[in-house]
This record gives sequence, C-alpha cells and structure tokens, in this order.
Amino acid sequence: MTQITVEQVREAGVVGAGGAGFPTYVKLSAKADTVLINAAECEPLLHKDKEVLRDYADTVLEGLAQAMRLVGASRGIIGIKGKYHDVIDLLRPRLPQEVEIVPLPDAYPSGDEFILVYEATGRVIPPGGIPLHVGAVVINVETAKNVAEAAAHPVTEKYLTIAGAVAEPVTLRVPIGVTLEDCVAVAGGATVPNPQYLVGGVMMGYLEDNHHALVDKTTGGVIVLPEDHVVVRRRRQVWSQIARIGRSACDQCSYCTELCPRWLLGHPIEPHRAMRSLGFNLVGEANFIGTTFCCECNLCSLYSCPEDLDPKNVCTQNKRRLAAEKRRWENPPFVPERAERHLKNRRAPTARLMRKLGLTVFNNKGPLVDRPIVASRVGIKLKQHVGAPCQPVVRVGDVVRRGQVLAVPPEVNGKPALGVPIHASIDGRVTAIDETAVWIAGE
Ligand code: SF4
Ligand code: SF4
Repeated sequence: MTQITVEQVREAGVVGAGGAGFPTYVKLSAKADTVLINAAECEPLLHKDKEVLRDYADTVLEGLAQAMRLVGASRGIIGIKGKYHDVIDLLRPRLPQEVEIVPLPDAYPSGDEFILVYEATGRVIPPGGIPLHVGAVVINVETAKNVAEAAAHPVTEKYLTIAGAVAEPVTLRVPIGVTLEDCVAVAGGATVPNPQYLVGGVMMGYLEDNHHALVDKTTGGVIVLPEDHVVVRRRRQVWSQIARIGRSACDQCSYCTELCPRWLLGHPIEPHRAMRSLGFNLVGEANFIGTTFCCECNLCSLYSCPEDLDPKNVCTQNKRRLAAEKRRWENPPFVPERAERHLKNRRAPTARLMRKLGLTVFNNKGPLVDRPIVASRVGIKLKQHVGAPCQPVVRVGDVVRRGQVLAVPPEVNGKPALGVPIHASIDGRVTAIDETAVWIAGE
C-alpha cells in the first residue's frame, strides 16, 4: 500500500464530502487514538454513503487505514446502520484486526458527529468541542475513498443521491461543476409540476430555487418535492411568521428540549427556553446563550414539537446574532451522564420521522448507477470548503485537462490559507472566470 502523505491529501483537494467541506488534511495532521468512518447517513431518502461503501469497500477501507496511520490511531470504526446487513456482511471478512463495525440504530440524527462518537466509543464530546477533544477523528465514506486515491488523482467527481419526486431515484457519480438540473434529468426528471429542490437532505439541507446551481465537493443529494409539500411550506416560512407564531403558540411543553440530541448528550442547549425568550422583548428575538450549542439538526422543528413550531430557526437566529456579537458561554455546564440515562430511550426512529414528514410516498432507494453525465460545460466553484476561496491560476482561453489545478488558496503571511486547490473536472477550455467559479466548456 502506497503511504499517502498529508500534503498529497491537501494537493488532491480532499475535503469533507458529507458536510461543510472541512479540509481533510487538517484533520489528518492531528493525533488521535481512533478514526471513525461516518456511514450513518441518517437523512431520509439519501443512500450515497451506503452505495459507495458497497461498491468501493476496499478503497474506503484503504482510506481508513491511511487515515489511521497518519493520525497514529490504533483503532478504526465504521459506524453504519445495523439494518444494512448486506453491506455489513460484505465488509466483515475484509476488516483488519484493528477495525470494527458498530451497527447504529435506524434513527435521526445518528450521523451527527457528536452522536456517532458517543454511540461508537461511549465518549461524550463537550459543548463547543470537536471529536479530537475525545481522541477521535471522523471522516465520511466518500472522503475516505478520496484519501485512498489522493496519490493517484485529485477530487474531480462527486457522488450524490437524487430522490423524492423523480422518475427513478438513483445515486450518481458526476463531474464536479454540473448543474443540479443535469443530475435530476439523469434520474428521469421530476414527476411533479414546479418541482422544488432540497439540497443536502430534508432535515439539514436547504431549498435551492436556482436549478442551475452547481454541484460541488459537498453536495450529497437532491430531494425533489412538490411545491405544496409540508417540508417545502415549512422552509418557506419567514422569520416574522416564525417568531410571531412561536411567541403566541408555544405552550412550553419542552418536548423540543427533551428530545434534542445535543441536550441528551448533556449540553446546555434548551430550545424551549429560546422559545420562551421570544416574548421577553418587543422585537421578538430569542435571547438564550445555550443556542450556541445547537447543531441545527432540525429535529425539534420537524419532529418533536407537537404544535409544529420552529424552535430550530429560533435557535439558529439567536446563535448567529450571538456569534456576530462575539458572545460565548465560557465554561458552560455539562452533564455527560445524561447520555447514558436518556439517549437510548429517546431516539427518533427514521420510519416515524418519514411518516410525520410525508416522505413515505417516495421510493426509498438510491442504487448507484453507472450513468455518466456528458457535461458540455461545468462551473468549478472557487469556494467549496471551509476557509478562504481559491484564487485562479488559469486564464480565460486556456486549454485545461481533467485533474489540472485551476485555483489555489491565497497566501496569508507567506503561508497558504486554510483551504485546498480546486481542479478541472473535464477536459476543455476556460471560457469565463468570475468571482464565484471557473467555467470550462468541454472539448
Ligand atoms: S415542543 Fe413546541 S410547544 Fe413545546 S416547548 Fe418546544 S416549541 Fe414550545
Ligand atoms: S435543531 Fe433543535 S433539536 Fe437540533 S440541536 Fe438545535 S435545538 Fe436541538
């Protein structure tokens, strides 16, 4: 096995493929005793992690081994839903002695890093912390595959599930920089008039009205929904509605808190208190510093609240304001034993969540199909990761080859800023460069 270096992981442009796009080379520069592969994929209707794991088991396991070597870990864990027996059976005979599978419950949000680390290791990450604070590094399935391949080629492709109101839900491998519309067309197109695109998932994703928006290294899926779907209507609510209804209708039952995954880990996040604080001032803004620890999983708004109120958005509105004001809760109270006491008994089963959200009418499958998109034009975003946007190193008119570097992170004090290079995903010619992307027309 070629020994991959942290520098190769950076040069290959590897970032977290299942979340915000944190540069993986930073994670792999740390020291930890455990590396976890996050294959929980708890967002309803998404299947790409399971599909990639099934089709590229050996590559993902190699990526895990490389990550373990780089951080000095003696233990590797794959966290995957226990119901995926076929994938688990396929993996078991291939596992080295130091790697184990932890079957996870079919519940939301089992893929939240904090929940995953607790379920797999019994360690509770403190409020405001990261997995490294308890000796763990967590990487996504696709990220592990990209680490394994970093010496061979950079990241130019993305796996994503297209599901919901489409003719044929599928998981696809596409060149980075194609449009969401291109991907939905490969899934047979939408089956409803005026389809709405939820990018990233029903629970934590966002509504994208621009169907020509570009796929980047973090796009995990597109859920297509009818325009009158309850999830779409909830997403379309504006802040003034959320605050006004929340202030008048919240009966302080505290279900939102009692089922909040972060509260269940002992963190001082209490969404019912954020809701109560809406009435404390004339402008209707929440004021509760515990919102700092909200992971924005949306469970409280889309599952827990019997009144269909929106504590998640109340928490995030407050959290953003506190961040802008640079207000932090120093030494917050932390009750880690709450996890042992309550977490197992208060899970949100995926099946019940899907019934509540009206998602059971959709085909809950997303097989990986080899149906490449022939892209005549792609737009490679300059910012696809946490950190500074990249600066172009090519010019309009340049001929580029797939895998060629298009832009690199800027320098700060003589060193590259946090970030990774971006690469051409097709052969072609650079036709435009704007403040957001490098555009390539295929040859
Ligand atoms: S669950 Fe709903 S009604 Fe109950 S406290 Fe929370 S926001 Fe208020
Ligand atoms: S979105 Fe709601 S349930 Fe999720 S962490 Fe925030 S307050 Fe808790």
